[in-house]
Amino acid sequence: MTRAVDVVVIGGGQAGLAAGYYLRRQNLDFVILDAQPTTGGAWQHTWDSLRLFSPAAYSSLPGWLMPVQDGAEYPDADHVVRYLSAYEERYALPVQRPVQVEAVRRDGERLRVETDTGAWSARAVVSATGTWWRPFLPAVPGRETFAGRQLHTVQYRSPREFAGQRVIVVGGGNSGAQIAADLAAHTDLTWVTQRPARFLADDIDGRALFDAATARRRAVDTGDTDTGGVASLGDIVAVAPVRAARDAGLLKAQPMFARLTEDGAEWADGTRAEAAAVIWCTGFRPALSHLAPLGLRGDRGHIPTHGTRAVDEPRLHLLGYGDWTGPASATLIGVGRPSRDAVRDITTLLG
Ligand code: FAD
Repeated sequence: MTRAVDVVVIGGGQAGLAAGYYLRRQNLDFVILDAQPTTGGAWQHTWDSLRLFSPAAYSSLPGWLMPVQDGAEYPDADHVVRYLSAYEERYALPVQRPVQVEAVRRDGERLRVETDTGAWSARAVVSATGTWWRPFLPAVPGRETFAGRQLHTVQYRSPREFAGQRVIVVGGGNSGAQIAADLAAHTDLTWVTQRPARFLADDIDGRALFDAATARRRAVDTGDTDTGGVASLGDIVAVAPVRAARDAGLLKAQPMFARLTEDGAEWADGTRAEAAAVIWCTGFRPALSHLAPLGLRGDRGHIPTHGTRAVDEPRLHLLGYGDWTGPASATLIGVGRPSRDAVRDITTLLG
């Protein structure tokens, strides 16, 4: 049996919930379908010591400020999960779990959303499926010959399982720096980055990143010079554990190696480092395979959009994912505005 609603939101992480907040305010008939059995999206799966890079008030979804976490200016991931869970209840958001959306197809005037628990028919669809589910690993020579353990950011939990081992962490972004800092005191660590590590000034946190992303979008929209946005400030927010490891001299980035060997890594000049494990903190791609039947793919796996609306399918909006769907839209504080704009557009479309 196919169920009919005005709007199907795919994904019940922060982006899907923010969309739900505005859909509820418009009194639209909608459902949120989420593949996870419990609330919290990707925040349920991050490593144990992760802390937000902004204080609670600057990590809030529309309508309700994130409460301060006792004793912590920068909340941990469990606190975010609790906040998202309470947010979902507070606004009585109609989330169905676990429901995996397998495909979205055109069906005349409507879109057909096929899931592992049956089909939905909608007049508009919001895709908010995040990136955590599509970890990216670069093609590095010898990766298949390395006999040790290889894992991605998404599988890393804590330094306990690597205690005393030689470990190589690959990646010069926030995940790479934070996981390297987490391991630095417990392992024989080699941290490699593609270009020299670029720490943001110690007093800059997510608040400044949000402002930089917003200023960039404004400049681009009004035809002014591109400010360079967040990337112009640096790659790594110097959160307290990163700062501490760096200041103790434990976080010294090496250039990227040329290949992996059976027992470690080798650089172009013949230098070698043995390792029991390589942790790839090499980023993510948007999880968009459910949209493949719509044939909308553009560059780098993105779907071309005007704001959040797909250029070639005006009934589809994309939320979260990255700056290409709105400035800082892949952050807690940044996803509010694009969500509001998407729902406004959908309301107009539905008349
Ligand atoms: P997700 O949290 O990934 O939620 C998407 C949901 O959609 C999931 O529940 C998923 O199961 C579901 N889904 C996926 N595919 C389907 C499908 N086909 N059918 C149905 N459901 C599906 N942001 C900040 O604001 N502050 C920070 O400090 C911060 N730190 C971060 C640290 C790390 C390591 C990472 C990776 C990100 C961080 N972010 C931070 C960025 C961002 O806030 C998170 O990535 C956030 O989880 C993105 O939310 P989302 O709703 O877009 O995606």
